Amino acid sequence: VTRPPIVDAHCDLLLELAHATHELGEANPFAGRWMEPLARGGVAVQACALYIRPELPADRGLRELLRLVEVFGRAVRANGERVVELRAAEDLDAVADGRIGLLLTLEGAASFGSDPWLADVLADLGVRMASLTWNEANAFAGGCGAAGGLTALGEQLVDRLLARGVMLDLAHASDRTFADVVARIGDGTVLVSHAGCRAVYDHPRNVTDAQLRALAEHDGVLGVMAHPLVVDPARPDVERLIDHVDHAVEIAGIDHVGLGGDFMRQIVHAVGGRSPDGEMPYDAAIEGLEGPEQWPAFADALARRGYDAEARAAVLGGNMLRLLRRGLAQATTPTAATSSTIR
Ligand SMILES: [Zn+2]
Repeated sequence: VTRPPIVDAHCDLLLELAHATHELGEANPFAGRWMEPLARGGVAVQACALYIRPELPADRGLRELLRLVEVFGRAVRANGERVVELRAAEDLDAVADGRIGLLLTLEGAASFGSDPWLADVLADLGVRMASLTWNEANAFAGGCGAAGGLTALGEQLVDRLLARGVMLDLAHASDRTFADVVARIGDGTVLVSHAGCRAVYDHPRNVTDAQLRALAEHDGVLGVMAHPLVVDPARPDVERLIDHVDHAVEIAGIDHVGLGGDFMRQIVHAVGGRSPDGEMPYDAAIEGLEGPEQWPAFADALARRGYDAEARAAVLGGNMLRLLRRGLAQATTPTAATSSTIR
């Protein structure tokens, strides 16, 4: 049986690579720790998030962020036979030829302090997808664990990201931030890289039905997240995860649902046991889908729940690939960008 390619819109593997590189002295930790699980799972594209704990002072956070950017570049260079960095739509050709596409994404802009022009630096460094917040409120926007929507500085940041063709990720956004960003998105590319559905499990990290409809209206995609925190801590199994897929498909349509694994168990040794706000146990995982090597079993579970070959291909990767093709084609070069004037 040939299985459709997997596109996973969220993973914090760079945190582990940074730890292995700097603390353990490993030369090529991506090869030893992630290549085989990704390949066994049939992963075609893996998003690699730049996640900086928001409580770090911005100057320290920015140094951490640059450390993760460097580690990402190192992983790409050291494994160039088997992976390709996705900066432009043409880079997806190498994915079609069998290489694993790695996409550099930003999870939260707290480390920008109050400098939206840093968006241009990150775009220059290859970031092609960005969210404004983790759960916190920062200078730009409110996250789902805080009050508030987009600030005046946040409007500048969104406009700069859009001018550079960076895809806007509304994972972790507050409901107001979600609405404020959607109102400014125009023909920019928008998604929620990793979350569940609030109607299935009521959690502020999960999206509402109205948000699912807004995503569909803008040809966006929800990456359904495979972590007990948002799936259902009382029933952290694959069937419950597929309840979220079912609901998202029912509300947004089969063309607007994808995957955002957010596997954490693999990296607990590098980052510690819980999220900074104490809420998310990093060593928790969905039974039967604990890492990328188990995506094929998840595909089989989708089939048992009635998803035919075409529907499985759409959810497992086709929809996110469509979004990436569009989003990467919108990425502008520094010289062509119109937003390069520093305010
Ligand atoms: Zn996250």
